[in-house]
Amino acid sequence: MEMKKEVFDTIRAQLVTLSAAGGFYSHKLRDIDFDDIRDQSDFEKLPFTWKGDLRDAYPLGLQAVPDEEIVRIHSSSGTTGTPVIIPYTQKDVEDWAIMFARCYQMAGLTNLDRVHITPGYGLWTAGIGFQAGAERLGAMAIPMGPGNTDKQLQMMRDLKSTVLCATSSYALLLAEEIERRGIRDQLCLRKGIIGSERWGEKMRRRIASELGVSLYDIYGLTEVYGPGIGISCDYECGMHYWDDYLYFEIIDPVSGKVLPDGEIGELVITTLCKEGAPLIRYRTHDLTRILSGTCPCGSAYPRIDTIIGRTDDMVKVKGVNIFPSQIDEFLHTVEGASSEYQVMIDHLNGKDIVTLFVEKDAAADSSELAERTAAGFKAKIGITVVVKPVALGELPRTEKKSRRIFDNRY
Ligand code: ZN
Repeated sequence: MEMKKEVFDTIRAQLVTLSAAGGFYSHKLRDIDFDDIRDQSDFEKLPFTWKGDLRDAYPLGLQAVPDEEIVRIHSSSGTTGTPVIIPYTQKDVEDWAIMFARCYQMAGLTNLDRVHITPGYGLWTAGIGFQAGAERLGAMAIPMGPGNTDKQLQMMRDLKSTVLCATSSYALLLAEEIERRGIRDQLCLRKGIIGSERWGEKMRRRIASELGVSLYDIYGLTEVYGPGIGISCDYECGMHYWDDYLYFEIIDPVSGKVLPDGEIGELVITTLCKEGAPLIRYRTHDLTRILSGTCPCGSAYPRIDTIIGRTDDMVKVKGVNIFPSQIDEFLHTVEGASSEYQVMIDHLNGKDIVTLFVEKDAAADSSELAERTAAGFKAKIGITVVVKPVALGELPRTEKKSRRIFDNRY
């Protein structure tokens, strides 16, 4: 995508300021002569910023303004090793709420909505972002946080929540529970805002039909404000993102080369007005592509596709790259198979063995389903798998991100 002139000017001015300010970027950009940065192609030669760089800056090495301007920090959920700490100024906190309120508006929410927020509160950016956006819009925020299904359902009914904010796996868990208890008609839910993980079409349909709501994918990451930097619209064709706050590029994750619109690669983000911890060419590890053309909804904000997976979820088996969304898409076509699955990859007697556990509909015959699924997998994805059907509800549901491919080879 062509970089707009004003975006280029903003980024260039930001580079000069950051390198003069001392700290993270003055070190990272120390060898850059800013007179050489004249256009988009020069910008595209700038070094990437990696999550590892952010970790190395722990605790507050990313802070780009004086202490008195910092009003809050958030931290990304470092499952391994050192966390990443992101400092926010007052303006960053406000900008984030403005973007989040815009997401809600894109999803058709108004100040009459009651927004039931199940993502967690605390160091990470989830719950508080959903809340600040709802308040900014003038809607009623119901700050539940995760867990305690009984209480969730009670509050949802008694407070007449109209919008459910959740991860896809938690939304599925609640949807199944609502179905099981037969209480759907006591609820007032009309929309679901689903964030923070990639989910398949089949899972989306199950949640949508069991809850009887329209669903919207919300996108974001702690390093870049948090959730709320992009969302899908009624037309469900990718996610609009806020290009007045952020510049998006799609690159080849191996070569680092910028890819043309429409090609799948890794999303790289540059912030345009973030103060506390601006980021230049930050590698998100999310796989997606830029969608060109105007969206049928008429919004002028550009779009990326739904997140297809993570560069680090991609595993190579028998010379074939596989990632979770391919399996989602494939299972969607298999009659009798549900959207829930797990893949185990093991190395036995010199060979890679791939086992696919899939939840099946009660009526489906296990051995017939296994045979049909294995044949389809081989034909569509190109590798041989052992299929083990299990009953609905047998695979773990979590409130956090579900991991579906387990590589036990190394
Ligand atoms: Zn649209």
